[in-house]
Amino acid sequence: MTATSTPVLVAGGGPAGLAAATELSLHGIGCVVIEPRVQVSHRRPRAKTTSIRTMEHLRRWGLAGQLRAAAPLPVAWSQRVTFCESLSGRRITDFDGAFGLTTQRNGMFAEPGQQVPQPIVEEVLRTHLSARPGVDLRLGHTVTALDQDGDGVLVTVRDESGAGYPVRARYVLGCDGAGGVVRDQIGTRYLGKSDPRPNFNVVFRAPALDTHLGPAVQYWVVGGPVTGLMGRLDLTGIWWAIMPGIDAGYGSAHATELITALIGTPAEHEVLATDPWTARMLVADTFADRRVFLAGESAHVNPPYGGHGFNTSIGDAVNIAWKIAAVEHGWASPALLESYDDERHGVAAQTVASAAANMRSLAGDLPAEAAAIQRAKYPEFHSLGLVLGYSYAGSPVIQPSERPDPAADTTRYTPAAQPGARLPHAWLPDGTSLYDRLGSGFTLLGPVPRAAGLAARARERGIPLTLCEPPPDYPWAGEFLLVRPDQHIAWRASDPGDIDLDVVTGWAQEGRPGAFAPPA
Ligand SMILES: Cc1cc2nc3c(=O)[nH]c(=O)nc-3n(C[C@H](O)[C@H](O)[C@H](O)COP(=O)(O)OP(=O)(O)OC[C@H]3O[C@@H](n4cnc5c(N)ncnc54)[C@H](O)[C@@H]3O)c2cc1C
Repeated sequence: MTATSTPVLVAGGGPAGLAAATELSLHGIGCVVIEPRVQVSHRRPRAKTTSIRTMEHLRRWGLAGQLRAAAPLPVAWSQRVTFCESLSGRRITDFDGAFGLTTQRNGMFAEPGQQVPQPIVEEVLRTHLSARPGVDLRLGHTVTALDQDGDGVLVTVRDESGAGYPVRARYVLGCDGAGGVVRDQIGTRYLGKSDPRPNFNVVFRAPALDTHLGPAVQYWVVGGPVTGLMGRLDLTGIWWAIMPGIDAGYGSAHATELITALIGTPAEHEVLATDPWTARMLVADTFADRRVFLAGESAHVNPPYGGHGFNTSIGDAVNIAWKIAAVEHGWASPALLESYDDERHGVAAQTVASAAANMRSLAGDLPAEAAAIQRAKYPEFHSLGLVLGYSYAGSPVIQPSERPDPAADTTRYTPAAQPGARLPHAWLPDGTSLYDRLGSGFTLLGPVPRAAGLAARARERGIPLTLCEPPPDYPWAGEFLLVRPDQHIAWRASDPGDIDLDVVTGWAQEGRPGAFAPPA
């Protein structure tokens, strides 16, 4: 393998790395993705909750339909989490509409959530990327070292044969998870702690297993000697289970006994895989060092309760990738990239705190009592405030405004057009989503006849700007909202002449507002 060069090297092809490559590709920026796993790991399904927000990104990429078609559990099959004494025992209580699952159209979002095992998401993204020009997906390869200088990063990669080779990149995205090398290579470290309790995951085949409780995406078994949560991976009889408090040795020796206890009666089954893990609450002290950026679990790790880890990783990837593309295209300042850490650090900290709060009442901590379970677990299954309500207010590339209280309601989402917020969604009279009208660059939402001046200023700077007239009943129809490629509001104004393009593209941060020079 000879030395190569690329605008962006993505270290790691898990959810964060594949999402980053997809976003870069959407904006016409090539990349090399280095991923050691040749095949995805179906026996280690991990994330199953794809949030409303991640589904909205998939819709933007044109992949939402493909993911739903590949998902073994259709949304219509179940939107429920059931608490019970066992799969064959008493129902204690249900949470309906959990994890943003709904078959009804909702004005607040463009896509409902989807339950789908992480390996299937990875497969859909791998298939998409393998057909994209400019994307070089190198499976079986591993990043071993980085050396950064003023113009770029020299990355050492090991191929399948064990031979090392260099790749020169202008930017590196460290999407190599908690066990990767990029975090250490840039001298960053995790801050936080681990939960002392072990956890034991099992994937098993039980084609004849069913439950009188009816369809649910998760069954929480509480109140008995063995507690935990379980669910179907597909409708052909593959199941998963998580048993908190069970260590690897005991779990491996007693897997059948544990599964039988959760089911509540002997049921024929075959253990396919086991996966011990520890819950961690970690956030790296910084997500960036010059041209290297950490995204996903290499930057932060949270307990899986609430289903946020993978989704937060996708949010990171989108945030840094559109910014690198804007800088590469020459219409944004490299200073735009500094806002990545600023915008994503708070979201990661908020997510870790929420997941840690969910972990305070695990299956073994809960009484078999409906009201207590509803009180304790509601925020875990209904977290729209966290999923849609996070804001980049206070970022140096967002119109100056008050940074919102990070303790804002996790459960409730109130659409708001404040700078930094996700653009409030709306369905259009023809049944399409307002999001479908946004451009892949910036979009100015507002009365189009009054937008000519801003359109001319954007054109002069090479900023891709789409003009979009909101529907008349949109609550902010009379105002102007400048929307970024990631659907967050960069600026809100009653006169588009007041919008400062230097701020939103990072040029103002160079210390010289107005320093922008049009691309040659
Ligand atoms: C039991 C469990 C359940 C979970 N459930 C959910 C859920 O419902 N919803 C949710 O959102 N999240 C969930 N998560 C979390 C989710 O799995 C992670 O947040 C997600 O995988 C993070 O994605 P990532 O791409 O950042 O990291 P990873 O998925 O860890 O990917 C990192 C990639 O980097 C590669 N790599 C490693 N070292 C190198 C190297 N040196 N060079 C190049 N590549 C390298 C790895 O092979 C891997 O593919 C769960 C986790 C667990 C443990």
